[in-house]
Amino acid sequence: MEKYEQIRRKLIKRKENLEHRLNNIDKDILHTNTPPDPDSEEQALERQNDEVLDTLGGLVRSELEEINMALIRIEQKEYGTCSVCRKTIPIERLKAVPHTDRCVVCADLDVEE
Ligand SMILES: [Zn+2]
Repeated sequence: MEKYEQIRRKLIKRKENLEHRLNNIDKDILHTNTPPDPDSEEQALERQNDEVLDTLGGLVRSELEEINMALIRIEQKEYGTCSVCRKTIPIERLKAVPHTDRCVVCADLDVEE
């Protein structure tokens, strides 16, 4: 069995989950069930709601992207190697943060993670 098969399955499951959520968010934004209310106060609320959904959608999309990248790295046998220092990332870290492409040391240097 492939070394990272378990993690790969976990990533695919997470990906399906996120895609499903993204679908629901898009549906909400399009107001398929509720046509926009002409009442201005209601509309303002709806707009606010859309902004929240938009932000949420952005977060889901960026996580999806990270998962896709991780799946590609698994295919290319790049997975589990730190993209900065090229050291092997400990399996414990990969299990905790499956979409990571950095070891703890390099991730610490990058405030973004
Ligand atoms: Zn590193």
